[in-house]
Amino acid sequence: MTRFTYSPVTRRTFLGGTAAGASLIALHPFSAFAATNQAHLRIMETTDLHVHVFPYDYYSDKPVDTVGLARSAAIIEAIRAEATNAMLVDNGDFLQGNPMGDYIAYERGMKAGDSHPVIQAMNTLGFDASTLGNHEFNYGLDFLMNSIAGASFPVVSANVITKMGADPSKDQTLLKPYVILDREVIDGAGESHKIRVGLIGFVPPQIMNWDRRHLEGKVQARDIVETAKAWLPQMREEGAEVIIALSHSGIGSAEHTDGMENASVPLARLEGIDALMTGHSHLVFPSATFDGFAEVDAAKGTISGKPAVMGGFWGSHLGLIDLLLERDGNSWRVVNATTEARPISKRNEDRSITALVESVPSVLASVQKEHDETLAYVRRAVGKTSAPLHSYFALVADDPSVQIVSIAQTWYISEMLKGTEYEALPLLSAAAPFKAGGRGGPEYYTDVPAGDVAIKNVADLYLYPNTIRAVKVTGAQLKDWLERSAGVFNQITPGQADQPLLNPEFPSYNYDVVDGVTYEIDLSQPSKYGPKGEDLNPEANRIINLTYNGQPIDPSTEFIIATNNYRAGGGGSFPGAMGDTIIFEGPDTNRDIIVRYIVEQGTINPSADANWRFASLPGTSVLFDTGPNATGYLADVKGVVIEPAGDGPDGFARFRIEL
Ligand code: MN
Ligand code: MG
Repeated sequence: MTRFTYSPVTRRTFLGGTAAGASLIALHPFSAFAATNQAHLRIMETTDLHVHVFPYDYYSDKPVDTVGLARSAAIIEAIRAEATNAMLVDNGDFLQGNPMGDYIAYERGMKAGDSHPVIQAMNTLGFDASTLGNHEFNYGLDFLMNSIAGASFPVVSANVITKMGADPSKDQTLLKPYVILDREVIDGAGESHKIRVGLIGFVPPQIMNWDRRHLEGKVQARDIVETAKAWLPQMREEGAEVIIALSHSGIGSAEHTDGMENASVPLARLEGIDALMTGHSHLVFPSATFDGFAEVDAAKGTISGKPAVMGGFWGSHLGLIDLLLERDGNSWRVVNATTEARPISKRNEDRSITALVESVPSVLASVQKEHDETLAYVRRAVGKTSAPLHSYFALVADDPSVQIVSIAQTWYISEMLKGTEYEALPLLSAAAPFKAGGRGGPEYYTDVPAGDVAIKNVADLYLYPNTIRAVKVTGAQLKDWLERSAGVFNQITPGQADQPLLNPEFPSYNYDVVDGVTYEIDLSQPSKYGPKGEDLNPEANRIINLTYNGQPIDPSTEFIIATNNYRAGGGGSFPGAMGDTIIFEGPDTNRDIIVRYIVEQGTINPSADANWRFASLPGTSVLFDTGPNATGYLADVKGVVIEPAGDGPDGFARFRIEL
C-alpha cells in the first residue's frame, strides 16, 4: 500500500499561509479548501510518449525542448511537491515511435528478461498504472509482453481479448482489464483514510487491422464502450470508490458507433466512470482545439460532465486532473474537479521555443546507456541504397527522393488493404519533395549518396511527422490532383528561350508526383489552379497522356492513392483530397513506414521510374535554380535534357532544360 503524505514544507505553508511560502509553492485550491471529510486527489497523466525520454530528436540528431519524459518528469515532481495525494498514470503508446524504440526492436532485441528503456524511465518515476496504446502491438505480442514484464506498475487493458466470452465480462483478456489500487489519502483535517481507486484501460479495436500480421489468430478486440459497460459494475462491486478510465482513444463524436476509434465521449457518458485520461490523437485537452464538440466543455475540461485530460504527445505536456473527494458514509465520491495540461515548453511569437522545465537527472540516467546506443544506431548504416537519394531535380523530373516515399507508401497500403473491398482497385501513391531549396536556400536539399543509409537520413527524406492515409478518387479527380500540382510551373511560350520555369509562390510540398500512372505536363497551357488551389482556368489541361497500365484513364475509373494525413484532410486543397475521400487512416507515420521498409528490405532501389515528364516543345527552353551540388547528379536525371547555365542568385546554381 502506498501512503500519500503532505510534505512538511507544504503542510507548513498551507497551515501558516505565509506570503513567502505561497510564492514558492503553488497551492492548489482543493488542498486549501478540503474540509474534515474531504480530500484532494490528483491524477497525473502522461500519454503517447512513443519512447521519448531524452529531450532529443534522434532523426535530426540534436537536442530539442519540445519532447521527453525527463522534462515532463519535472512537472510530475512539482505537482508531487505541491503536496497533495497524487497518482501517476500513463495512457499508452510508450513502446514505439522514435529511433530508440526501433533500436530496441530491430537491433538490440527484447527477449524475456530484457529491460526496455521507456519502462526503466517509467519505473524511476513510480507510475501507479498504465494501459496499452495501439502502437504497443507494432513489434508483436512477445515484444510487448517481454517489455511490460519489467514494469513495476500494473498495465491494464479491458478490450484486447485472448478468448472471447459470451459478454465482455466473461472474456479472457490479454492483460488484467482493470486494477483496484488501495491507497491512502489525507483529508482536510490531516487524517489518513483508505481509498480504493479503480483504473480500467481501453485501446482502439482498429489494432486488429493496423497490426493484423502480429495479432490475427492470437487476440481479438472489442468495442470500447461495450467493454466498459460490462466491467464497470463489477469494479464497483469489488469496492472501487473512484473509477478512472485510461482511454487510449481520442475525443470525437458523441454518438456511439460500434468499434469506433475515438470513443472517449460516449465512454465518458457511462455511469460509473468518474474521470477520463484520453490520448491517441496527440492533442491537448482542455484546449480550444475541442471547442464546439458535442458534450465537451473545452474550457472547463469536461466530457459529458466528467473531468478529462489529454496530455499532448512525446512528453510535451503533463495532464492533471484534480479531484475534490468527499466522504459519503464509508466511501469517497467526487464532488468537484479541475483539469489542465501543463506544457514543458512554449512557442514564442518568432516561432522559437523556450523550455519551461529542466530535465530530471534520475530519469535521464535511467536510459543513458540506451540513449547512447540509439545515437550510435541512428548514425550508422541500417540499410543500403543502390542509387543516390537526392532532391536537386525533384521539380523537373521524376526523382529518387520522392520515388522512395511512394515505394514505401505503396508497400504499406497494399498490405493494409488486403482482404478489404479496396484490394482490387489500382493502387497509386502521391508524394512531394519536402526539401527542395526555395526559401530554405541552396543547401536545403536531400543528398544521400549511393551506399549506406542511416536512420538519420530518413528525416531528410520525410521531414514532417505526418501519418499515413489512403483515399479513393475517380480518374477525373486524379487528373485534377495532377493539374493542381502542375501549378508550380509558369506558363511557357513555345519557341522562346530561357524562360523561368518555377513559380516561387508555390511551395514544393504541394508538388505531388503520383506514382503508378504515367503522364506528361504541357507547360504551354495555363494552370488550371492557382498556388493555393484556387480555380484559375477551369478548362485548362496541362496533364496529357495520362495512362494506367499503358491505357488512357477513364474519368469514372476508381483509384486508391496512398498519401498522408495533411493531403488527405484537405491540406493544399487538392481535388479528390478534401477529407471526404479517405478510406484508410493509419496510425503510423510515413517516416516510420520508410524506416520499416528500409530495415526489412536491407537494400533499397529508389531509382526514379520516369513516370512523368514535360511534354516536348521544340525550340523552347526554360531555366531553373537548384543547389550547386546538383551538378554531380546531372547524368542520372531521366526523361529531361538538362545543362548548366551559370550561377543563380543567393548561391543557387542555374540550369537550362530544352523542352
Ligand atoms: Mn500515439
Ligand atoms: Mg515515379
